[in-house]
Amino acid sequence: MKDASGRNINYLRISITDLCNLRCMYCMPQDGIEKKHHREILSLEEIYEVTKIAVDLGVDKVRITGGEPLVRNGIIKFIESIAQLEGIRDLAMTTNGLLLKEYAQELKNAGLDRVNISLDTLKDEKYKEITRGGNLKTVLEGIEAAKKVGLNPIKINTVIIGNFNDDEVEDFVGLTLKENIEVRFIELMPIGQASTWTKNKFISNSIIKDRISELMPIYDGDRHSPAKYYKLPDGVGKIGFINPISSHFCKYCNRIRLTADGRLKPCLHSNQEIDIKTALRHNIGDLRKLLEEAILSKPSQHTLNDLDHEPIVRDMYRIGG
Ligand code: SAM
Ligand code: SF4
Repeated sequence: MKDASGRNINYLRISITDLCNLRCMYCMPQDGIEKKHHREILSLEEIYEVTKIAVDLGVDKVRITGGEPLVRNGIIKFIESIAQLEGIRDLAMTTNGLLLKEYAQELKNAGLDRVNISLDTLKDEKYKEITRGGNLKTVLEGIEAAKKVGLNPIKINTVIIGNFNDDEVEDFVGLTLKENIEVRFIELMPIGQASTWTKNKFISNSIIKDRISELMPIYDGDRHSPAKYYKLPDGVGKIGFINPISSHFCKYCNRIRLTADGRLKPCLHSNQEIDIKTALRHNIGDLRKLLEEAILSKPSQHTLNDLDHEPIVRDMYRIGG
């Protein structure tokens, strides 16, 4: 369905849980989060219900995220049910990769097409530091398992943080030399935990890109992708830059989000939310109408760079990235 700016909204990102097995410093509070009563979180059946209507309205691309989606019980059956919805063309997941080794084959069998894996450093100690306890080797094994079962293409999402991992850019780029993977550098966003971080932690992707002079621009055929793609002259894989801060990709934004606690979010960078849980639980109103309302109220562009931009109150683990 088209929004008020004429954009075709065909991409639903679903956060299926607030819970996570990591505590990344820019995303989660150190002490973790208070576990919500299960009534506050949509059941997987309720999420399926909303997704079915979204697909009916023209959504053909779905991403499952969180929190960490692989910690939610029933994930495989859920993926299976979404994959079977007629009209789904692309079913993907964003994960920290810790449980991929265990689940890759089942996910593939259930109908998942591909995974994006979040990985901010290739050094054991630094991984432990930024994730507050994670084990890099387990993630690397998860990536190998995903490759092996054919969850393609594999995309690695790397948030660049000043004075933390900006010295590893060349190492990440080097991964694309021999391997058919996509490494995507994402600008740190001042959301949730990171909203109070000092300016020197936020590095524009243009600075990162200029450091690698041999990059050749390529077009990956998807103008809705927030990433601009490049490759090394002899490289097999691709390098993407996602610049939510330094450049708008709002003009081509085709997405809408559903949070685990039952809110529709038309824009990542706005506090606007539409409650869909009440309607689901009490048969009030029309779910389809609420979805249409969310799509029609999607702002034409975000206000992140405006002086009066309202800080985003939800942490990223409660939005889904
Ligand atoms: N747990 C899964 C994972 O880490 O891939 C999925 C959820 S996580 C919230 C989704 C993505 O959001 C991750 O790639 C993470 O790096 C990114 N993210 C979280 N907080 C962010 C921030 N303040 N700025 C930029 N990216 C952020
Ligand atoms: Fe968990 Fe993903 Fe947030 Fe890290 S970025 S704390 S893995 S939800």
